[in-house]
Amino acid sequence: MPLLPNSSHHVLVLNCGSSSLKFAIIDANSANEIISGLAERLGSDTPSIKYKYQGKKTVLDLASGQAHAKAIDTLVNLVKDHNLADNLIAVGHRVVHGGEHFTKSVLIDQSVIDGITQSATLAPLHGKANLLGIEAAKASFKGLPQIAVFDTAFHQSMDKVAYLYALPYKLYTQHGVRRYGFHGTSHYYVATQTAELLNKPLAHSNFISAHLGNGCSVCAIKNGKSVDTSMGLTPLEGLIMGTRSGDIDPGLFNFLTTQLDYTAKQIDDLLNKDSGLLGISELSNDCRTIEEAALAGNERANLALDMFCYRLAKQIAAFMVPLQRLDALIFTGGIGENSDLIRSKVIKQLAFLGLDCDIQANLDARFGSQGIISSENANTTAVVMPTNEEWVIAQDAANIAQEQ
Ligand code: AMP
Repeated sequence: MPLLPNSSHHVLVLNCGSSSLKFAIIDANSANEIISGLAERLGSDTPSIKYKYQGKKTVLDLASGQAHAKAIDTLVNLVKDHNLADNLIAVGHRVVHGGEHFTKSVLIDQSVIDGITQSATLAPLHGKANLLGIEAAKASFKGLPQIAVFDTAFHQSMDKVAYLYALPYKLYTQHGVRRYGFHGTSHYYVATQTAELLNKPLAHSNFISAHLGNGCSVCAIKNGKSVDTSMGLTPLEGLIMGTRSGDIDPGLFNFLTTQLDYTAKQIDDLLNKDSGLLGISELSNDCRTIEEAALAGNERANLALDMFCYRLAKQIAAFMVPLQRLDALIFTGGIGENSDLIRSKVIKQLAFLGLDCDIQANLDARFGSQGIISSENANTTAVVMPTNEEWVIAQDAANIAQEQ
């Protein structure tokens, strides 16, 4: 049930992608969503905004070519029309790349914008969109504190041994080439929630969290801190994802350019947009579609699922090196929260870590429910924990706004 807008802790959360803008007004105390929506296909011939308010869904078409600034304009009008402006205390921005500048959420001023601009060279598509969102929100919500919450911040506790690539060192010192990791807000959130569920202090908990959505990453959390993660300089490294390849032999670049005349842009598109579950199955990037096809006997869909699970299990096992002791394996993200099939396949391959699945609990954990899915025979706990990045952003923004 959406709350009536009567709290003074409402935060507008903005997640600006290259052609989309996700937004929500969240009550930072209760996590209730007052209004939420998505502007998509921004800059194309058919941009639109859909939103949900008090249970009702509405779609508004934008004029052809209209992009982020217009979407935020429309959002400002929505906020005013529904009398939601007076209760807003801050705007929280999800920023994908904070480089080494940002280890926690910050109030946005010119120096922060400069830092985000610098980090944007490492993730140009995301970075530019994030900056556009910040500029447009600053212009439209004058006087409201704007707070940046970084996907990379949680992983800034990683040690050099984990974050450096074995490349010439000056690529790191001069150009910032290193592993940064992403999905930090999600890994942090599910770790805190799991510690609460297991009644264990986070600071004494060792977890591996698997955020499995369109993008997928695993994080090794030791005594509550990220010590390693599967994504790297960009969100392409690591696991097999919906359309991303994850790890490949870098020698592939030479082969594709010299033997098949690929350009850098074509290789980037191949690895980011045409690979992963989609590339193997040649059916879809959507895990549900692939599971249905696999059930119906489609061999390639089956192979895509098996490869996805094998790579994931291998990565989880590798993270036992920094952790040594595992208190819980956490599944989150659209796939992690809903796919009993993927969870059971992965847990089966990790039986040597003391993991064992409770069949019924695993089947029951879906559609946003949280719970322990390991059996009584298991020595290591497995948990499904729905993520809520928007709430973390809202809480951080509210806390920082109140300090001003
Ligand atoms: P996200 O990016 O977190 O929204 O996750 C999107 C992914 O979750 C897509 O691959 C969906 O197919 C997958 N997903 C959502 N619901 C289910 C489900 N019931 N079973 C399997 N995969 C699901």
